[in-house]
Amino acid sequence: MLKPAAAMGRIGTESAFEVLARAKALEAQGRSIINLGIGQPDFQTPEHIVEAAIKALRDGHHGYTPAAGIPELRAAVAADIDRRLEVAVDPDDVVIVPGGKVTMFFAVLCFGEPGAEIIYPNPGFPIYESIIAFSGATPVAVPLLEQNGFAFSAEDVLSRITPATRLIILNSPANPTGGVTPRAEVDKLVAGLERHPQVAVLSDEIYGQMLYDGRPHASLMHYPEIRDRVILLDGWSKTYAMTGWRLGYAVWPKELVAGVTRLAINCHSCVNAPSQYAGIAALTGPQQATRDMVAAFAARRRVVVEELNALPGISCIDPFGAFYAFPNISGTGIAAKELEVKLLEEAGVATIAGTSFGVHGEGYLRISYANSIDNIREAMGRIRTWLEARAAA
Ligand code: PLP
Repeated sequence: MLKPAAAMGRIGTESAFEVLARAKALEAQGRSIINLGIGQPDFQTPEHIVEAAIKALRDGHHGYTPAAGIPELRAAVAADIDRRLEVAVDPDDVVIVPGGKVTMFFAVLCFGEPGAEIIYPNPGFPIYESIIAFSGATPVAVPLLEQNGFAFSAEDVLSRITPATRLIILNSPANPTGGVTPRAEVDKLVAGLERHPQVAVLSDEIYGQMLYDGRPHASLMHYPEIRDRVILLDGWSKTYAMTGWRLGYAVWPKELVAGVTRLAINCHSCVNAPSQYAGIAALTGPQQATRDMVAAFAARRRVVVEELNALPGISCIDPFGAFYAFPNISGTGIAAKELEVKLLEEAGVATIAGTSFGVHGEGYLRISYANSIDNIREAMGRIRTWLEARAAA
């Protein structure tokens, strides 16, 4: 009998991958499934980025690279942040990792241990709670509420800080809700954080370029008073449709860079070279493909919100960022997980139960609108047919 570490019993998962596997299995049996479950753009990586990776391989970049990333890429990240956010970043503080998730894992490893508390959004990206628990720290949930547009309330976050708090995880624009925290709320939060100088902040801004209806992106990088304790998580997965390339970055507080680089050396050594050259091309090349993708998401968002609000028992507020809608399903009288399973198995539509993102996700479903307008309309029709048949039964 094996004796795995107790921490293995505390690790959670991201059920989007399980739903994807089930959807694929149903498709393999000949079923038609529309996938509104998985959180990845349904666009191809732009051609000039793909070409840069091919060229890197042809040019002989086949070996290890520096653990924190090749210098040209770290410099390109700093220049990109300067261009977009008008904030000067030292390239030495940028650490390249295989995907945004790795930054999350490392940030929690930097601060999480028994006795420590880490504050995180709920509903939120499920990996936050999972790795906090894995680290032995106590996960402290901040409920994100529909009546606040699923934005953070500074007061809700600040009131959960105790002497044991080491790290606060923020995510705006947010997965799974599409919520965007307004600048005024971030201002209040930062002002309150000045009373807690020992608390670090992990700001997950991976959807920072996916905003709608003119909502501004309130980056945590804009606050010089806390810059020495902010970890900025970002990457290429969503902005450049590069989820499979496994490429992400963070800007770290200077005092953590050496330790994080050691984590990288202990864990993955370095990111593969072609992905990094692709990353340079993405940041330094034309940005039109990203703008076109966001414009396509904006059009789909209108359709998905309108169609959801027309379904019996379902209502949906406007999401202002990312590519998710988070409809309230409580009027159907069906629990989130049950509805997810029934819609997949019986209606042929993959969605994700709100409870996959934490206990405060009960009563909601996550709908990814990274799919064509025709497929979104077809999916909504299938959901309507299924809900009406159930009501008539
Ligand atoms: N952060 C959030 C909020 C996400 O939704 C995701 C992916 O879904 C990630 C980070 C991780 O991105 P990556 O695929 O680059 O690891």
